[in-house]
Amino acid sequence: MLELSTPVQYVKGVGPRIAEALAGKGIHTVGDLLHYLPFRYEDRLNPRGISELRAGEMATVVGEVRNSGLFRTRSMPIFQLTVGQGRAKLRCLWFNATYLQDKFVPGQMIALYGKVEEDPRSRELQIIQPQFEILGEPGYGGDNGAEKKAAESLEIGRIVPIYEATGRLTPRWFRRIIRTALDNLTPDLPEAIPAAVRAHLGLISPRAALWNVHWPEPGESFEALQTSRTPAHIRMIFDELFFVELGLELKRQQQKAQTGIAFRLDERVRAAIKKILPFHPTAAQKRVLKEIAGDMGKPYPMRRLLQGDVGSGKTIVAFEAAIIAIENGFQVALMAPTEILAQQHYFSARRILENAGYRIVLLTGSLESDRKREIRRHIAQGNAQLVIGTHALLEEKVEFAKPGLVIVDEQHRFGVMQRLKLMKKSGDGEEGRATLRPTGSETGSHTISAQSQCSAEPAEPDVLVMTATPIPRTLALTLYGDLDLSVLDELPPGRTPIITKCVADDQSPKVWEFIRKQVAAGHQAYVVYPVIAENEESELKAAIKMYRELSGKIFADLKVGLLHGRLDAELKDQVMRMFQKGELQILVATTVIEVGVDVPNATVMVIEHAERFGLAQLHQLRGRIGRGAAKSYCVLMTGGKISEDGQRRLDAMVKTNDGFQIAELDLELRGPGEFFGTRQAGMPSFRVANIIRDAQLLEAAKHEAAAVLAGPNAEISSEEISRALVQMRARWHHTYGLVEVG
Ligand code: ADP
Ligand code: MG
Repeated sequence: MLELSTPVQYVKGVGPRIAEALAGKGIHTVGDLLHYLPFRYEDRLNPRGISELRAGEMATVVGEVRNSGLFRTRSMPIFQLTVGQGRAKLRCLWFNATYLQDKFVPGQMIALYGKVEEDPRSRELQIIQPQFEILGEPGYGGDNGAEKKAAESLEIGRIVPIYEATGRLTPRWFRRIIRTALDNLTPDLPEAIPAAVRAHLGLISPRAALWNVHWPEPGESFEALQTSRTPAHIRMIFDELFFVELGLELKRQQQKAQTGIAFRLDERVRAAIKKILPFHPTAAQKRVLKEIAGDMGKPYPMRRLLQGDVGSGKTIVAFEAAIIAIENGFQVALMAPTEILAQQHYFSARRILENAGYRIVLLTGSLESDRKREIRRHIAQGNAQLVIGTHALLEEKVEFAKPGLVIVDEQHRFGVMQRLKLMKKSGDGEEGRATLRPTGSETGSHTISAQSQCSAEPAEPDVLVMTATPIPRTLALTLYGDLDLSVLDELPPGRTPIITKCVADDQSPKVWEFIRKQVAAGHQAYVVYPVIAENEESELKAAIKMYRELSGKIFADLKVGLLHGRLDAELKDQVMRMFQKGELQILVATTVIEVGVDVPNATVMVIEHAERFGLAQLHQLRGRIGRGAAKSYCVLMTGGKISEDGQRRLDAMVKTNDGFQIAELDLELRGPGEFFGTRQAGMPSFRVANIIRDAQLLEAAKHEAAAVLAGPNAEISSEEISRALVQMRARWHHTYGLVEVG
């Protein structure tokens, strides 16, 4: 008998060579093989009669090969096959298919699947490039006993699973091998989902699910099969999602069990916050601060993700949180993904916080080493209260006297969604100090580790992660299921929605004219050049060339600046500051300005070759304008051919300013794997679930996982909980490819 954990090599028909090929597909065990689901099904129980076919439909046809042959046209060889059912005939064509030449023999039974079309000349129906499967040799489907034989077959007379071929392993091969594995599968598969959860969702048994998902019962709804909504699919999908969510919930609980700092939030602290506020916070800002302050007051460490669309005002919320920590005598680290952004935070922090007497330092990689050393001493001695920096804070061992709060801004720009996993440092730290440092993990991402050795019980600092990439809720649940979520869903008052237009670049004179008018009205403009896929060099060249053209010719009478990643820090800083002060009217830039840059007087954003940008990036760039009271305009200029997806991205930008809608579409266009480069990002790799399609099941899984961990109770026994946890741990690594949970 096969167990799910049995190596796949022990399935009859799989030798070491094939096992190797399967391993390449991530199939190592019998369980993996049985989770290799059909990507569609063919209804060969009721295949279509050739005479009933209609042009335009997708159809499965089972028939007999009549004749076939290759004929050459001027442009390419075409292979033609005629299939018959009694007197009805259907023609199939394959282009450039010399390889099919000796494939068919008259009399063979064959199953075809494809789109039925009408030949424009002969008006006869045909299928072009159908998928096909040879079902049997001549005589197989002959008149006598054909039906009986067919019913016994795995290929015909039933709903047939179609698997994706891999190398030489055909769909048909998978069908047989999976069938063999099922036939020899142990009858008692362990059930690790608690009975109450199964009852809530009406889940069938694991064994029934495995059988039915591959070999549907005759009465099964074909529609439900194709949309992965049969009871078998639901059982398998929920199963996968449930144990991921269980792990994430457990992580959350464990974090809450750690020792944190219970910051006091009394009248004095409240007054301190009030004193620095340059404007009335929005209702959303108030609500979010309350959520953050609530966490900070608890005796366990905060792990909170703050999502807020570009321009929603996250910075001030971060400063408010910082004041809570500082007023309690702790230090705060604020990290940004780029030097420009770190610098900008530093300027705003000085503007907003320094008057109130807070001591702020900026620590970035490009500082001179003497200066760095001095700043680090300030931090280590506890003089610096708010430390603003880039990754340098992580990469170099910066020692904090008393770290209380770590804020990570614009998290999505760190390249990967680093999991902020606080790990104890192994006793090599200096007395009474704590460092923030990166720790390599299995996924190659950074983690922050912090440790305070002042007391016997080291308290973990609070962590607030901020992102402007609105993460669709389904993705947030899987990626950040262990974080608490706050959302800034309101823009500060007085903003008028940005107007976005898409124009071809031969219209550029009009665009430049428009910029001129806006500048004459006292506003400023950005002109951005795209990242040309992985080629920073050409991006740079394009931006520089454009800068020459704009500053030298088109806007020779205006002040035009250039900003790109290769400028040294001081120059970058200088350019940025000049733009901020209004000394530059037009800023030509690469995507370095994508994130965080805040110049409310800028009202125009021209993006050249907009069709080459990703949707998230376009939205981020557009977020640089519309930050003041004046109406703002985003011009998407396109050059050359635009792909279908490219067009959808542009359309979406023109249609909506809503970051969440844009993120949903982006996720849909790119798929969850691409969305964040999720493979390294701690995103589980699902075998059967699809978080877009299965969003509802994911919500249910999260809900049920939390309920299980809240037990034991009348519904869920402690044995059930421990069985579920054992299963979760076993899967967490092997199946989901995730780093351990504690
Ligand atoms: P983001 O969330 O993109 O980081 P910022 O924090 O940079 O947004 O804020 C965008 C702009 O809005 C800044 O100029 C900021 O000063 C301003 N702002 C933020 N909150 C408010 C508010 N409640 N009222 C008025 N202006 C605000
Ligand atoms: Mg910001």
